[in-house]
Amino acid sequence: MGEALLDELARRVGAAHVLSEPALTAGFERDVSGRFGGRAAAVVRPGTADEVAAVLAACARAGAAVVPQGGNTGLVGGQVPRNGEVVLSLARLTEIGPLDPVAAQITVGAGVTPAALAAALRGTGLALGVDFAARDSATIGGMVATDAGGAQVLRHGTMRARVAGLEAVLADGRVLRRLSGLVKDNAGYDLPALLVGSEGTLAVITAARLALVPAPARVVTALLGLGALDEAVALVARLRAALPSLQAADVFLADGLDLVCAHRRLAPPFPDRHEVYVLVECGAPEDPTEALAAALEGEAAVADVAVADDTVRRAALWTYREALNEAVNAAGVPHKLDVSVPRAALAAFAAEVVAAVEAAAPGARTILWGHLGDGNLHVNVLGPDPAAHGVDETVLRLVAAHGGSISAEHGIGVAKREWLGLTRSPEEIAAMAAIKGALDPAGVLNPGVVLAVPL
Ligand SMILES: Cc1cc2nc3c(=O)[nH]c(=O)nc-3n(C[C@H](O)[C@H](O)[C@H](O)COP(=O)(O)OP(=O)(O)OC[C@H]3O[C@@H](n4cnc5c(N)ncnc54)[C@H](O)[C@@H]3O)c2cc1C
Repeated sequence: MGEALLDELARRVGAAHVLSEPALTAGFERDVSGRFGGRAAAVVRPGTADEVAAVLAACARAGAAVVPQGGNTGLVGGQVPRNGEVVLSLARLTEIGPLDPVAAQITVGAGVTPAALAAALRGTGLALGVDFAARDSATIGGMVATDAGGAQVLRHGTMRARVAGLEAVLADGRVLRRLSGLVKDNAGYDLPALLVGSEGTLAVITAARLALVPAPARVVTALLGLGALDEAVALVARLRAALPSLQAADVFLADGLDLVCAHRRLAPPFPDRHEVYVLVECGAPEDPTEALAAALEGEAAVADVAVADDTVRRAALWTYREALNEAVNAAGVPHKLDVSVPRAALAAFAAEVVAAVEAAAPGARTILWGHLGDGNLHVNVLGPDPAAHGVDETVLRLVAAHGGSISAEHGIGVAKREWLGLTRSPEEIAAMAAIKGALDPAGVLNPGVVLAVPL
């Protein structure tokens, strides 16, 4: 990268916020799984939307490619450099605006973490309604850019449902600002909606107007042990119908639990081992424990139940599920494939995917977990060379054969771009490329993410 651009960036954001020493840039250059990353030309950390605009304008003039980064918790490699790009970190945009209690909305900077937002909202009776294990590091900007999901999608939808407006900067530094939060506003194209899930390829999000949900006064969590995945799928369908307060139904299997218990040195949740574990959670203004107990009564497939209604014991139950990512990463560099299939096909897909991976890569370990209520499984494969693509292709082709999506909530990133055509038509991909070309004609924003760079 030219000294002239480095100097200009330092003038725009302050020399302390332009990092080029390997010891300082290293933490921005590799993802948490260790599978993706490369050297950055520099890491730039603007502190305001105006500085973001100035950085993007300067990079555009210099023809320097830019990789936007929030909390660097993404799992498909879209936030780390691949080819000596400038990493644009939004982590310093941490302003939290005043709560609008009438609209139940709040405007926050792109670098705010969901944990910081939850802390700011404590006592207001309102919550974000999107929650997952990376809550302390992920950012609102990254969550909008990936249309993040998490445990509560079955109740509140994905991040898309929480976006009431956005402020974003185009590749050339022009700012789009639409933060009014109007419930009804169909004047022209819905540009914020276009940016949700765009993975940093169309614009850089600097702030979001968020539509909040009522925070449940009482929450109860139950871990259930079952013998088979098809029984778990059927159970969750019945629980959804019976329990309006149901806000999570996550699943993991015995081999994943073994990894977590070994990694975290935890005792298993039950004396008996079960093939399938389902974490269900209900939240309501009044204690939902009795309603949950009534819904589970007579459910013969449920062999064991552990219930928790206080913060500490609930967190202990969630640890068995939420530590899976780090436990798998500690065991090796995994192939991580976040997919969704029609819920009725989930159990069959799970059985077939394990067999298909074994056939493609004998001896590989396939660890499955996910969000059962959404038909969303995280297929993690340990063993095959992290750079090899055969296993990914096997899994994603099977997903397509089941009428599913190759990306449920993590995005396409660089991990899956070559298989986008499995679940998106040539016409759809051409429309995406046309939008990309219109908003970023020089192709400097996150090149090679979602869409392959044209040769
Ligand atoms: C332990 C763990 C658990 C997870 N669980 C879930 C889960 O349950 N559900 C789920 O959906 N995800 C989950 N994830 C994945 C990840 O946390 C989400 O994708 C999250 O939304 C990424 O946020 P981030 O700020 O870390 O973004 P990053 O990783 O920094 O970036 C992700 C993508 O968004 C782009 N981007 C980031 N910020 C901006 C911005 N301000 N403007 C434009 N583009 C931007 C990047 O270029 C990249 O393409 C998990 C990750 C971990 C490590």
